[in-house]
Amino acid sequence: MKFVSTRGGDVANLADALARGLAADGGLYVPQAIPTVDGASPSASVAATAERFIAPYVVGSPLEAHLGEICAEAFTFDAPLRSLDGEGDTLLELFHGPTAAFKDFGARFLAGSLARLPRDRARDLVILVATSGDTGAAVAAAFDRRPGFRVVILYPDGGVSARQAQGLSCFGDNVRTYRVAASFDECQRVVKEVLAAHADDPASRFSSANSISLGRLLPQIAYHAHAALAHRQGSDQPLNLLIPSGNLGDGAAAWLARAMGAPIGDIDFACNANLVLPDFFAGEAYRPRASVRTLANAMDIGAPSNFERLVHWLGGEDGVRAAFGCASVSDARIEQIIAAAPTRHGAIVCPHTACGLAMLEDKRAAGDTRPWAVAATAHPAKFETIVEPLVGHKVAVPPALAGYLARPTRNYPLAPSATELLADLGAAGWIKL
Ligand SMILES: *Cc1c(COP(=O)(O)O)cnc(C)c1O
Repeated sequence: MKFVSTRGGDVANLADALARGLAADGGLYVPQAIPTVDGASPSASVAATAERFIAPYVVGSPLEAHLGEICAEAFTFDAPLRSLDGEGDTLLELFHGPTAAFKDFGARFLAGSLARLPRDRARDLVILVATSGDTGAAVAAAFDRRPGFRVVILYPDGGVSARQAQGLSCFGDNVRTYRVAASFDECQRVVKEVLAAHADDPASRFSSANSISLGRLLPQIAYHAHAALAHRQGSDQPLNLLIPSGNLGDGAAAWLARAMGAPIGDIDFACNANLVLPDFFAGEAYRPRASVRTLANAMDIGAPSNFERLVHWLGGEDGVRAAFGCASVSDARIEQIIAAAPTRHGAIVCPHTACGLAMLEDKRAAGDTRPWAVAATAHPAKFETIVEPLVGHKVAVPPALAGYLARPTRNYPLAPSATELLADLGAAGWIKL
C-alpha cells in the first residue's frame, strides 16, 4: 500500500509517511485506495479489530510482520459502548487508557510502530509535541522510558487545568516538559519551526506526533469499527456517531471506518464555540481563524488539520458539507449538560463529551429515534475543576491516571522561540548542535 499527498505532489510507503508526518508538498498523507474489510467479527477485541482494519495499510511495509504485536501492546484497554438512560442512547467510552483520553489509542500505536521501523539507532529520535492538554500526556506516556526515544512537550502556561499541567509534567527521564509563556498556537509554531528547519536533513533527529500523523489516524479506525460491529449484532439498524471534534482526527477515522465497511450510519461533529466547522457546514466558505478558549479546551481549534483529508476523500468542500452534520455548543450549554447528565442520562461527562450529548438531546427533541453513540473523548476526572462543582461531588480519578499524577512533577519555563528551545535542549545535553 502506498500513501499519497492530498496535494498530489508526494507518494510514500508507510514507513516514510510515518517518519515524515507531513508530506513533502505540505499536504497530508492518505491511502492511495481505501480498502474494504469483510466479515470482521463483532465479538473480537479492540486489539484484534485494530489488526483487522489496519492490516491492509501495512502490506509491504516493515510493520507488516509486527502488526499483531503492535496492536496487542497498544490496545490493552477496552472501548466499551455504554447504554445511557434514554432509548438508543450510548456513550462510546474512549477514556480507559493510561492518560484517560482517546489520544492514548493513537499515541500508543504510533509509539509501537516507530519503535519497530528501521532507523539510525545511534541517535535518539526526539518527538516534539505542542499540546493543549491531552495529546502531550498521551504521547509522553506512550514513549515513557522507551529506549531510543525522547519526548519534548510544549504547553501553554495557564492554558491547561492544574491537573492537566501535572499530568504533562510527571514523566521526567526521557520526557522534557516546557511551560511556555504563550498560547497553544505559539507552542505549535515553535514546534513547526524546529521541524521545518530539520525537514530536509536525512539524519533528522526530530519528529512530531501531531494529529495529522497517519500513525495516529489509522488506529482510531479500530474503536469506531469495534463499537459499530458490536452494536449491529444486536440491532437491525447501524450505529450513528456523534463525535466531539477539534482537528477532526477522530471524525476522519470514523469516516474511514465506514468507508472500509464498518456498519456505521450517520457521522456528526459536535463543536464548541469555535465556529470554523459549524459555519462551514451551515453553508459558508471554509475560513480558518484564531481559536477562542472554551471549557472544552482540547477542541479549541481554529484550523482543523484533518479537514484537508475529508476534502480529498469527498471530492471537494461540497462533498464534505453533504456528508456530515455539525453543530456548535456554547460554554453555558456545556455547563447545563454536565450538571443535568447524572439524572438525565446516568453519566458524568467531560466538557467535550457534553458537546456531543447536547447534539444528541437536540436530535431526540426533534424526533430522531435512531441509535446514536456519543464518543466520550476524555474522563471527567481530567476536568475536575469544571465538572465537580456542576455535579456537586468529587469525581474519582481512574487508577492509571492517578499513578501518573502521584509522580513528582517537573517542568521548565520557555519563551515561545525555536532558538531558545534548541539552546535549552543543547544545554541539557539532549541534542548536539
Ligand atoms: C483531542 C480531543 C478532542 C478532539 O479530537 P479531534 O480528533 O482533534 O477532533 C475531543 N475531546 C478530547 C477530550 C480530546 O482530547
